[in-house]
This record gives sequence, structure tokens and C-alpha cells, in this order.
Amino acid sequence: MSLSDITSRVAAAERAADRPVGSVQLVAVSKVQPNERVESVLQAGQRCFGENRVQEAAGKWPDFKEAFSDVDLHLIGPLQSNKARQAMELFDTIQSVDRPKLAKAIARLAQELGQCPDLFLQVNTGKEVQKAGILPEDTDAFVAECRGLDLPVKGLMCIPPVEEEASLHFALLAKLAKRNDLAGLSMGMSSDFEKAIALGATHVRVGSAIFGARVKPEG
Ligand SMILES: *Cc1c(COP(=O)(O)O)cnc(C)c1O
Repeated sequence: MSLSDITSRVAAAERAADRPVGSVQLVAVSKVQPNERVESVLQAGQRCFGENRVQEAAGKWPDFKEAFSDVDLHLIGPLQSNKARQAMELFDTIQSVDRPKLAKAIARLAQELGQCPDLFLQVNTGKEVQKAGILPEDTDAFVAECRGLDLPVKGLMCIPPVEEEASLHFALLAKLAKRNDLAGLSMGMSSDFEKAIALGATHVRVGSAIFGARVKPEG
């Protein structure tokens, strides 16, 4: 697969769902990819990227941002509160706000920095013990809490359990977003982004289908 194959498949899925072409943001997930691959995807015109580790992103994206000024960088992995400042300075969107403690840290820093990235709240739709995210039944209260902190909450994000039918999780996330008046829905990865688009995804996070298999283990 190449970037253009994936953008064509995104457009086809948008049309199949009667949604305007261009309404879904493709987030190219560049974690653990060699810089040459990231650079060639930048050269091909892609500007929105996802990374799951602050440290790794801080090592490569400042230089890319200088070369390609309109880069739009999304954090899609777990964020420790003590890395929140660095993340807020580097990322345009943080998709992995997953607990009240982190929301409070971001709110405090937003005051201090005078700016805040767009935020998505991560929902643990499968209620997996090892996975980050707010539980579905706690989502309404968490959205309200974040709004009370004046945070720019744009949407919800989920990573469904690998062994379950993703569509059920996408539908649940869409329902939670709708009832909280949130327009953003980050769901769908390489293996299931078309299903996610059919169910209303506004952001799909696609890594290996664009870049090929990750060369290093995620660790
Ligand atoms: C790695 C990752 C992706 C991309 O996964 P692929 O299967 O390679 O498309 C999407 N979302 C998150 C949160 C990830 O960590």
C-alpha cells in the first residue's frame, strides 16, 4: 500500500457512506518508522501524523516541522502528567486524554502557557483492564468535568479490543459522542478504517497500511 492507495480508499469509504469527500482526516501513524519513510510520506503531501510516545516524537518532529511548516501532529498514546507540558508544546491535538488527573494537569498548563492543543477523550470501550481510557459509563461525567475546566474537547477516541468486532465499539463511541454533542470521532486503524468511516469516524489512525510493517517492536 502507499499513501495514495489509502487516501483513495478513504475517499471511496466516504462516498459509500454518503459523506462529503475530504470530511475524514487521515492521521498517518508514524511511530517507530524510520525518518526516510516519514519524509517520503511528507513529500507525497501528507501533513497530519500520529505518534504514540512524547519522547520519540520530540526526537524527530521539531526538524520535520521546520521543513514542513503546516504539519498537524496528534498524540495518540498514553500521556504521563509529568510529560504534559512537553506534549502540549509539541502536539496540535492530544487524542489520549484518559483520566481526570491528566485533564487537570492540562488545564493548569493551559492557563500558564496561554494555549491548549485540541483534545479528544479516550474511551475504553472494551473495558479492558490493561488499556487506558475512561469507561463508557463514566464518559458523560468526564466530558462535563473537562468542559468545566474550559478544555477544548473536540471528540472521543477508542482502540477496540483486537479480538472483538470493531464495529460494535465504533457504534458505541459514536453514540457517546452524539449524546455529548461532540463532533470528533477518532476510530479505525489499518485493518478497519473503512468500517469506522461508515460509522461516522472523523479521524482514522492508519500506520502499517501506509508505511509498511513497523520495523522496531513497540516495546
Ligand atoms: C499504532 C497505532 C495505530 C495504527 O495502527 P495500524 O494498525 O498500524 O494502522 C492507531 N492508533 C493507535 C492508538 C496506535 O497506537
